[in-house]
Amino acid sequence: MQVRTCKQSNCHNLAPLPHWYCEAHRALEDDYLNSRMKYSRTSSDAYRKRYDKVDRNANEVKRSQVKFYRSKVWQSLREVVLTKQHLLNQNYLDNRSEYVGSYTPVISRLL
Ligand SMILES: [Zn+2]
Repeated sequence: MQVRTCKQSNCHNLAPLPHWYCEAHRALEDDYLNSRMKYSRTSSDAYRKRYDKVDRNANEVKRSQVKFYRSKVWQSLREVVLTKQHLLNQNYLDNRSEYVGSYTPVISRLL
């Protein structure tokens, strides 16, 4: 018989599979299983299609944002800029001196 340790904190009793809690804490199992199912539907194709169709385009602002970021003009410009910047983000390029400063001691130790 396969067993696992009880999910209850500080309980070291064994629970037989497929249970998650020992006999003493078996009453907590329904709540635990329900909590595991809370986000399970978000990985389904039907949920994703509904999200794309309804939630993602919920209002005019979101609709225009999605339309802009999916446009050919934005995607090609993004590709050009990322290639030009060697895939480094703008925040790093603007504050490069802060990052370089942290590496100076390491370089000087090597020389
Ligand atoms: Zn237990």
